[in-house]
Amino acid sequence: MSPGTTATAEDLRIAGLVPLSSVDRPGHLSATVFCQGCPWRCGYCHNPSILDPLAPGAVPFAALAALLERRRGLLDTVVFSGGEATLQHALIPAARAVREAGFEVGLHTGGAFPGRLRALLEEGLLDWVGLDVKASRAGYAALVGRPGAAPRAERSLRLLRGSGVEHELRMTVTPGLLGQVPAVLAEVAATGGDHLVLQRARSTGAAAGFAATLGEERDWPGRFEQALGAARARGQELGVEVFSRAA
Ligand code: SF4
Repeated sequence: MSPGTTATAEDLRIAGLVPLSSVDRPGHLSATVFCQGCPWRCGYCHNPSILDPLAPGAVPFAALAALLERRRGLLDTVVFSGGEATLQHALIPAARAVREAGFEVGLHTGGAFPGRLRALLEEGLLDWVGLDVKASRAGYAALVGRPGAAPRAERSLRLLRGSGVEHELRMTVTPGLLGQVPAVLAEVAATGGDHLVLQRARSTGAAAGFAATLGEERDWPGRFEQALGAARARGQELGVEVFSRAA
């Protein structure tokens, strides 16, 4: 898209398209769109090959439109994932196009672009959001590799909490992030959040360095389960219900 022009759905740079998923919006059948680019660099990222924010897309929007035409009545949602889907201006017209085609819109985001999230929410374009709470406020910059990430993520969390849109708050927990879980629970509670899904980091699909480090951790599943028990107890005190799954 040239500067000064208005983005269209066709401008969305799509790195990949999964035609059917039952997990990307829990309880729904979705098509999942992996949007190109992310400003952050979490060590555990499962999509390190699509983080370049300037790289072109690999799948035209027309392929998504054709899929939706074929799957009418079989799918209910299109989940925009990434990468960081809110990086791209074209997400807004793409979400409009999905709605106009008769499907619901889901979004996976880390909250890096609260202005774009606000625009989507204000236009009523989102039916469900999975928001990754990456770390405690103090731990954000170190995890995502960008200063200034924590206030952006917090603005997004507050916008989402205030929107009334159905959502899931989740945190991917690595051995290095275990100690931040109590602070994250307190920060979620402070925004009025009532739940947090703790996802145990796994090595499959992650960058080789992270996968190797995780593989060397002694009894990582056992340590995660132990921390989960403590988080559930702390969550009960704070009014935050804690769930778990493998990331
Ligand atoms: S925010 Fe998501 S897509 Fe971006 S680096 Fe982190 S895990 Fe990967």
